[in-house]
Amino acid sequence: MVDRSFRLIFLGPPGAGKGTISAMAAERLGIPHISTGDMFRAAVKSSTPLGLEIKEILARGGLVPDALTIALVKERLAQPDTVRGFILDGFPRTVPQAEALEELGGIDAAVDFEVSDELVVFRLTGRRICGSCGAIYHVANKPPQQEDICDRCGGRLTIRNDDRPETVHARLAAYHAETEPLKSWYGARGLLLTIDGAPDAETVYRSFTVRLEHFLAER
Ligand code: ADP
Ligand code: ADP
Ligand code: ZN
Repeated sequence: MVDRSFRLIFLGPPGAGKGTISAMAAERLGIPHISTGDMFRAAVKSSTPLGLEIKEILARGGLVPDALTIALVKERLAQPDTVRGFILDGFPRTVPQAEALEELGGIDAAVDFEVSDELVVFRLTGRRICGSCGAIYHVANKPPQQEDICDRCGGRLTIRNDDRPETVHARLAAYHAETEPLKSWYGARGLLLTIDGAPDAETVYRSFTVRLEHFLAER
């Protein structure tokens, strides 16, 4: 399954496991994992006027404007490491973003990880992120070996600013209003692959690889 191109997008609510499965799959497929959320968090760290504007949007759980998001992704997809494909984790999140992506060459599959709102809240409030390497943990589901220390690089684990319960509800609302319509948008184009995101990460990853292989073979 590794000798063809994979242009994939990962859909699903915050906390669906997009970042976790992306990290596993990108390594296995040898394609870059492109997370717009990670790119925005990097911009926030820069403390430029644009970074401060983005910081405020992320803190209230809103979406960054389409024009800005699309420009960022366009620049990233022009990099040579994307020739064999990519995993876009968290992009597109709106119909205009999906339309822009079609103009940038389109995709092979839109993989939608389905989880309930209740599970989203549980996953996000327990999520911990390595401040150095970005590795993803969960206090109950994937605890580090040493409390608050990254297994991979020894960095400190942090709680994402937008994983506080107040912000989680705003993000879920943005997901249902702006992003969920993409399921039928991609469904109508025969590009939607729906995966149950509720089981443990190994199980989700396995069903993703098996189902994707069949999906791409049939197209
Ligand atoms: P999660 O993985 O929990 O869904 P992300 O890391 O993907 O969160 O995104 C974090 C935040 O970055 C979002 O809540 C949103 O404010 C912003 N963001 C990320 N991707 C996009 C996008 N494609 N369009 C607009 N805003 C985005
Ligand atoms: P997303 O990128 O969609 O926001 P993440 O991959 O960051 O989601 O996962 C959100 C939280 O849920 C993290 O704490 C992660 O460790 C945990 N998690 C991810 N996938 C699973 C899974 N299949 N089962 C249990 N916990 C998971
Ligand atoms: Zn780390």
